[in-house]
Amino acid sequence: MDDAGFTKCERCGQPIYEKDLLTRFNVCPHCEFHFPLPAPERIRLLTDSGSFEERDRGMTAGDPLGFEGYEERLSRARMNTGLSDAVVSGVGKIGGRPVALAVMDFRFIGGSMGSVVGERVARTIELASAEGLPLVAVSASGGARMYEGVYSLMQLAKTSVALTRYIEGSLPYVSVLTDPTFGGVTASFATAADVIIAEPGARIGFAGARVIEQTTRERLPEGFQTAEFQRDHGMVDRIVHRLALKGDLERLLGFVA
Ligand SMILES: [Zn+2]
Repeated sequence: MDDAGFTKCERCGQPIYEKDLLTRFNVCPHCEFHFPLPAPERIRLLTDSGSFEERDRGMTAGDPLGFEGYEERLSRARMNTGLSDAVVSGVGKIGGRPVALAVMDFRFIGGSMGSVVGERVARTIELASAEGLPLVAVSASGGARMYEGVYSLMQLAKTSVALTRYIEGSLPYVSVLTDPTFGGVTASFATAADVIIAEPGARIGFAGARVIEQTTRERLPEGFQTAEFQRDHGMVDRIVHRLALKGDLERLLGFVA
């Protein structure tokens, strides 16, 4: 960002007027590169104006392992983002239809899933079950939150169990994968949906490419772990441009809800 209100696109290198970036929800007007989008902006993009009510905001992370530096990282993340953890959850309307919604924010410790993220996501699913609402989750995560050790890993089971119960009720779940979605989030609620949408160019996987190459000692194919690659290999159903996402969700939910 420079003084004249311009920023440079990290993909095409073109200067972008910051106001244009704001009105296009962080999509480059020249090359359509999707920059990360903070959770509050994502909620503004997806929900009908003024309809979103946040839940469980007061829930805050403990430091179960006494991990050195974790408390400081948490308070810095809270200060820098204005959020209390890496997911914002609640109920809102999409095209007039009430939905339970959980939206992750990569700015908060890499969107890592600790106890609060897992608990909020599980409660959102349970709320959807209890009130018979469709469920929409938007992921952006590097994976489990290492500062919480096994407590973090427990969130995979917790969110998966809540989803299994939800799905038994024949309610629709749409998962939106954004750049990047990895690790424990990929391995739990993000990929257990009825419809999996990804944003163009999003990196999606479990372990990162470097780790896989080092472990298997094999070169990975071109474009490995991009949204387009995952769609071509059956892990993602659709790729949807960010500015078309709300309309797409309205249409999808109209079919099933
Ligand atoms: Zn660009």
